[in-house]
Amino acid sequence: MSGTVGELAGDSMERPLLTPEAAEAVLRELAGQTTAPVAEGPEPGRVFAAAERRSAETQRVETRLRLAEARYRTLVEQMPVVTFLAALDGGVNELYVSPQIESMLGFSQKEWLEDPILWYTRLHPDDRERWHVEFARTCVSGERFRSEYRFLARNGRVVWVHGEAQMVRDEAGRPLFLHGVAYDITEKKHAEEVLWRLNQELERRVLERTAELEQANAALARQTEELARSNAELEQFAYVASHDLQEPLRMVASFTQLLARRYEGKLDADADEFIGYVVDGAVRMQRLINDLLTYSRVGRTGDTLVPTDCAAVFTTACANLRVAIAECGAEVAADPLPTVMAERSQLLQVFQNLIANALKFRREDEPPRIHVGASRQGADWLLWVRDNGIGIDRQYAERIFLVFQRLHGRRHYPGTGIGLAICKKVVERHGGQIWVDSEPDRGSTFYFTLRAGDDAENDGRYA
Ligand code: ADP
Repeated sequence: MSGTVGELAGDSMERPLLTPEAAEAVLRELAGQTTAPVAEGPEPGRVFAAAERRSAETQRVETRLRLAEARYRTLVEQMPVVTFLAALDGGVNELYVSPQIESMLGFSQKEWLEDPILWYTRLHPDDRERWHVEFARTCVSGERFRSEYRFLARNGRVVWVHGEAQMVRDEAGRPLFLHGVAYDITEKKHAEEVLWRLNQELERRVLERTAELEQANAALARQTEELARSNAELEQFAYVASHDLQEPLRMVASFTQLLARRYEGKLDADADEFIGYVVDGAVRMQRLINDLLTYSRVGRTGDTLVPTDCAAVFTTACANLRVAIAECGAEVAADPLPTVMAERSQLLQVFQNLIANALKFRREDEPPRIHVGASRQGADWLLWVRDNGIGIDRQYAERIFLVFQRLHGRRHYPGTGIGLAICKKVVERHGGQIWVDSEPDRGSTFYFTLRAGDDAENDGRYA
């Protein structure tokens, strides 16, 4: 800032920009008056000398002021903002506005200055009250005025204007002028508005989506609960039904057996045959009911899982099956087997059912060769029972794990079709999975997973 402007404006932006005298001179200058009114004195001679001195003085001041004014004008009229000066005599009357006002609001500098309250009539009606409040606050606090208002341009367009102004006061502290700058922030406002709208939209969508998800979650929770409830009911039903059926069935079975013993050969041949069927049916139903009861007794494992040595369980299973193993000359072997988290009796059921099936579904042309193996998979162990039996068609790979699902007639391979369903229930209750990999005539491998029962230190012990 040049020294001259500095003199006019003061060194600090926070101090009044003009001294009252300098301001008055500037105003006279702006209004076209070049000299101050000359006081009338009594003595012509002294008056003349005094007038001459004053005139020389005035000229010097005038020159300095013109220079200052020229520099000031060049400066303010080059900036891409509107500069203004308004008198605070009763209202706020525009005294000076820089020509940039025309590109901002469409009114010329001249029009603006001819009508000192034109600015107020162009202030958006909805912003006027706010202006009064904010202006009053500035007058009282003396703080810098800074705000944003809408103005109506000549063509009716709404222009957002950012204004900043400083109050200029006289020595007694009375407000004299308002001196400041204003610039067009319409684009910024529009961008802000677009952003705001996008934000609102985003928030709305997030809320909507969250509500949808919450609804879906609630529905899922309800369904899960419903499923668990109906599952528990079914289990209870299966248990009660099979348990309660046992007693009358035992009666039917024993009396038909009695009937068979006592009346065999005493009635006709048809009667003997029919009694045979009844005895058979009753015995078979007893077996089914027993198996169903066993199945529904596979309860929740809960806290009952303990580190269980699979090798010991395997040995027990083989011991329980030793007659069947010996009968068919089977070869049953196992790799070193790990410790898993399990309920021992349930794990024994799994091993026993799988090995029994491997013995039962053997090929006719060679004795069964059964191999039990294990490999570590992260926190789990993968275990398998492999045989060289008749195999299973891929399309039945899932069905065979369902209750009472069998692929063969009872004549060839006796059974009730519940062994694998029990294995699946046990493994899943232990948090694992079970599946089969097989091909007809090429043997089968039943895989299942269980949580490892050892610490991390022992990882790989069996790998
Ligand atoms: P069950 O042995 O009483 O028939 P399972 O539930 O144990 O009942 O087995 C269901 C069916 O799966 C069997 O009937 C058989 O068809 C098939 N299956 C099970 N294990 C084997 C196996 N190791 N090899 C071939 N088929 C098998």
